Amino acid sequence: MTYNITLIPGDGIGPEVAEATRRVLEATGVAFNWEIGYAGADVIDKYGTPLPEEVLQSVRKNKVAIKGPITTPVGTGFRSVNVALRKELNLYACVRPCKTYPGVPSRYRDVDLVVIRENMEDLYAGVEFEKGSPEVAKLIKLVAAAKKGNIAEDAGISIKMISESGSRRIVKFAFEYARAYNRKKVTAVHKANIMKFSDGLFLAVARLVAEEYPDIEFNDRLVDNMTMQLVKRPQQFDIVVAPNLYGDILSDLCAGLVGGLGVAPGGNIGDEIAVFEPTHGSAPKYAGQNKINPMAMMLSGVMMLRHLGEVKAADRLEKAIARVIAEGKNVTYDMRPACALAVGTSQVADAVIAELARK
Ligand code: NAD
Repeated sequence: MTYNITLIPGDGIGPEVAEATRRVLEATGVAFNWEIGYAGADVIDKYGTPLPEEVLQSVRKNKVAIKGPITTPVGTGFRSVNVALRKELNLYACVRPCKTYPGVPSRYRDVDLVVIRENMEDLYAGVEFEKGSPEVAKLIKLVAAAKKGNIAEDAGISIKMISESGSRRIVKFAFEYARAYNRKKVTAVHKANIMKFSDGLFLAVARLVAEEYPDIEFNDRLVDNMTMQLVKRPQQFDIVVAPNLYGDILSDLCAGLVGGLGVAPGGNIGDEIAVFEPTHGSAPKYAGQNKINPMAMMLSGVMMLRHLGEVKAADRLEKAIARVIAEGKNVTYDMRPACALAVGTSQVADAVIAELARK
């Protein structure tokens, strides 16, 4: 079978990590028909937008995409392509596995957890009111009239909205993911003791959903306690499910636990469509230097293979990457901080391909 996949190289370091990833994915023996979707800062002049409609159409048609990072241009008026993709395609779940591979530079061993972040709601939905605007004045009056407190006249306001349906959808996703990937426990993260009507709703729904999955353990943590627990003993966690803002912060924290952005993969997943991408950004200062680590995008490729049902190929590719890390010879600068012998992006791909070819 040949898979039709939209490949979005992105900009900055994106094209380099995307090319390395395409090469190792092809070396697994799985057949791909790549539809290249150009998006990002480099296409604005040609298309008048960093996210051309034909890229969206390609992803809608193929249902699966893998993408490199894309710069969010500051001060041009364009919104983030990454956020737009998630919104346009209803990719409500952001899945970020964090695993320590032996040999990776990390303070921890045996971490193997997955952060599942809600992607559409919460403070990140972009419902914001600027300081001094007539809308803010109306909101301040409304809040005072409802006897909900006094907001300073010079405040800017961002709305935190968390719905029952959105919470149910993401928590169910987390439990279904746990079942599909043979995980044992789901931990819901919140601040329900303070934000009773938003985080409290999330927690209440999470508890109800958990009853539908008696085969999987469930517990919950306040977000502040959660950050401390993660730093002290991350091995106790398995699947972590959180609203948007906490999920964003926790997934970077967890990337730090397992060796940094160079090895942190991700996927944005909806009911029909999935877009896999590394957690890191476009690191413009390294663009075109064949320097940065392609493993985060390669591991996103491993996630894509599993999503496609190509489990054997996924396991082989993950093992090949793990062996290259363990050997420690053909790794980039971020994995050999004290050593001048780091190799380049394309050499990492060569090494992974050589490992795949080994019987
Ligand atoms: P970044 O992740 O691009 O880079 C921060 C630093 O992390 C780099 O300078 C580098 O030292 C290190 N790093 C990142 N990726 C690495 C890799 N693969 N190997 C080794 N080291 C790596 O974060 P930033 O500088 O805050 O953002 C740059 C741009 O990327 C911004 O425009 C931002 O909006 C965008 N961004 C895009 C995505 C995405 O496409 N999903 C995600 C995050 C940021």
